[in-house]
Amino acid sequence: MTKNISLTDLATDPGCLSDYDPNAMDFYSAQDWIAQFLAPLKQNETLPIEDALGRVIAKDIQSFSDVPNYDNSAMDGYAICFSKNSSTTFEVVGSAFAGSLEDFQIEPGEALEIMTGGKIPRGASAVVPIELIDIDGSSIHIKTLPKIDANIRKMGEDISKGQVILKSGKFIRPAEIGLLASLGIAKIEVFKKLRVAYFSTGDEVVKVGNILKKGQVYDSNHYTIGAMLQAPSIEKIDLHNIPDDKKLIRKALLLASQKADVIITSGGVSVGKADFMKEVLSEIGKILFWKLAIKPGRPLAYGTINEAHYFGLPGNPVSAMVTFYQMVQPAIRLLMGEQGYTPPPKFKAKCTTTITKKPGRMEFQRAILTHDQDNLTVTPTRSQGSGILSSMSEANCFIILEMQHKTVEPGDLVDVQYMEGIV
Ligand code: AMP
Ligand code: MG
Repeated sequence: MTKNISLTDLATDPGCLSDYDPNAMDFYSAQDWIAQFLAPLKQNETLPIEDALGRVIAKDIQSFSDVPNYDNSAMDGYAICFSKNSSTTFEVVGSAFAGSLEDFQIEPGEALEIMTGGKIPRGASAVVPIELIDIDGSSIHIKTLPKIDANIRKMGEDISKGQVILKSGKFIRPAEIGLLASLGIAKIEVFKKLRVAYFSTGDEVVKVGNILKKGQVYDSNHYTIGAMLQAPSIEKIDLHNIPDDKKLIRKALLLASQKADVIITSGGVSVGKADFMKEVLSEIGKILFWKLAIKPGRPLAYGTINEAHYFGLPGNPVSAMVTFYQMVQPAIRLLMGEQGYTPPPKFKAKCTTTITKKPGRMEFQRAILTHDQDNLTVTPTRSQGSGILSSMSEANCFIILEMQHKTVEPGDLVDVQYMEGIV
């Protein structure tokens, strides 16, 4: 769904009131639009694997060995050597425990007691689990001969030598760390941390710890943004809060652009008299994008200042969070070097209540998903106001209503997406 819209339109049209705004870009076009300006970090660093969780691999990793590097038993039991019409009685010639380096060999009619992970003796045809064995002194009996190679884990079955096991751009989770360890790899190259500077703006915004006067609000955005940025691949640069003063905002943005790869601010991107972000951005950098056809969070600035990417989030606390999750987070994952990131998947759930909606804007309703017998049901939180931060705290998911969606009736299936952070 791509709409042809000129950048000048996007950057200059001030209207923010009606549900349908011809100069607001639809969500998916905006994501594609922003993505074209984003390129992963170039610098790498080497880290021990235990410190690599949540980082992104910067160089393909090849296996130097087969995993497992020897044929081994998948069961506690007996390795046996037989041919087609052999007898089902075998003479036990020894025991191989996991970790034993001894090399055994068995001949037709012989068996070796073996534990899970134990090295398969030369000559073995299969392993028979202990549960299927009758022991009679130094002999064992089985009812039927197993299939050749039954219960044998073959060398290289998991990973073969030379195989590219993890590609550059892969996000590292516990499974990747385990995989690297299973290959004996102690250190890897990852992309450097993405440096993200952030500050909130607003004369009315006060730091926690101070007494609040009437007309002031605590700076919650600073903390939510800081918390949403808390990730192993991110180095946060906290620039606190800046009043609605053009000079100070300019100074803070320029400083941030020298220190960081990404700058995130909250507030001052709308059309009020004290909303200076856009104006300052146009003086010291480039406005590449300004208005989104979404609710909440229509004003959202994206641009560049020197080499840094700039995201100006709306001041309303819910709008700031929603636009962060939906627009900034995918951009950050890409800038961190990750390839193939996809946002949390959408799925259908039955909505329990009416949601009044006019076509024209895509909506991200905060909602609670529950599993009730065989049904997934979803209920919007009590208030959907863009300043009601408790709705974000109550919610565990978004109900996503596409631009053309009309009012939802109780029992309708709606698209739902879990709220997921950067890691
Ligand atoms: P703005 O986008 O600057 O026009 O702000 C919109 C609304 O969000 C106003 O009610 C602000 O008081 C509120 N707001 C702006 N910044 C913050 C912040 N850092 N923390 C909490 N609320 C904020
Ligand atoms: Mg403001």
